[in-house]
Amino acid sequence: MTVCNSCRYCEGLCAVFPAMETRRSFADGDLTYLANLCHGCGACYVDCQFSPPHEFDVNVPKVLADVRVDSYHAFAWPRAFAPLFIHNGLAISVMCAASIALFLLWLVTGPDASVVTAVRTGPGSFYALIPHNTMAVMFGAVFFYAMIAIFMGARNFWRSMPPLALRTGIAPSIWQAMKDAGRLRYLDGGGAGCSATVGQVRDRRRMFHHLTFYGFMLCFAATSVGTLYHYLLGREAPYPWYDLPVLLGSLGGLGLLIGPLGLAVHNWSRDPILRPVKPGGMDAAFLTMLFLTSATGFALLLFRETAALGLTLAVHLGVVLALFLTLPYGKMVHGIYRFLALVRYAQERAAEHK
Ligand code: SF4
Ligand code: SF4
Repeated sequence: MTVCNSCRYCEGLCAVFPAMETRRSFADGDLTYLANLCHGCGACYVDCQFSPPHEFDVNVPKVLADVRVDSYHAFAWPRAFAPLFIHNGLAISVMCAASIALFLLWLVTGPDASVVTAVRTGPGSFYALIPHNTMAVMFGAVFFYAMIAIFMGARNFWRSMPPLALRTGIAPSIWQAMKDAGRLRYLDGGGAGCSATVGQVRDRRRMFHHLTFYGFMLCFAATSVGTLYHYLLGREAPYPWYDLPVLLGSLGGLGLLIGPLGLAVHNWSRDPILRPVKPGGMDAAFLTMLFLTSATGFALLLFRETAALGLTLAVHLGVVLALFLTLPYGKMVHGIYRFLALVRYAQERAAEHK
């Protein structure tokens, strides 16, 4: 950052460089903030005249990616679970297998195991296998825990950032950050696109990221509408294919199939010089969980009126439970920290213009 601050060649590429230029020294909190402001587009590596083989060995995307991973670990709540970020791929795989096994066990050890392979159709067929209240309490508790853990981690990150020299209103900054995050403004490499390979610029990473994020939001909307149907209208799942929860879930599910797959291919084909040193399987684990959530959801939609209902329901619920459980200890947190860094950036810009 000190070299960059003298050079300033990359100041038009993203928010990191303008934020860096307002600093003379870089304490831990500044670096963590800048690291989470970086979208890892790789443009500043490609453009840098001091990148390897130059003796300065400047590689901003890689260094900031490592600082980002360190920040997830440092701000995890509770602290005892911070090591989950280190061998993240392994931890998430074990948790996923365990929660699928839990639901399968639940079904086969019930009072009548033959219901597992019985063909059931119509409203309430899911709840004949696993009672609605059991599902609601289990998923509600895990989701509530995940939200608390994410909130506490986010609070730790927010507090780690250096205080503003001049106070500004928070609401306009949140709105600005929402606009910047919603269109991934700083993932465009200053307009050229994301550099997967040195010398090869593409903008597909942004497209796949959009598909993943908006696919996730549509699936969340489908679950919320389903919950309203259940409690307000007294209508039980499963719903017909043309009903709103299924349409929203299918549209979101398509995004969650294509987006994570595209991002995984992009990451895999990315030039090693641009990859972080300490991924811990985090990217692959999170993308796999999102892909599996969608794939098992579609399997349930396809086989819900066959004898495979029990198996597909248990696998889908197991994957979703593991996804919820691991949300605070995986790549999901990058979205929260980056959004907060964008809020702080908007506040700094507003303070400059005061
Ligand atoms: S990345 Fe390289 S070219 Fe860009 S500001 Fe830093 S030193 Fe200068
Ligand atoms: S967002 Fe792109 S240009 Fe900006 S610091 Fe990160 S990798 Fe470099």
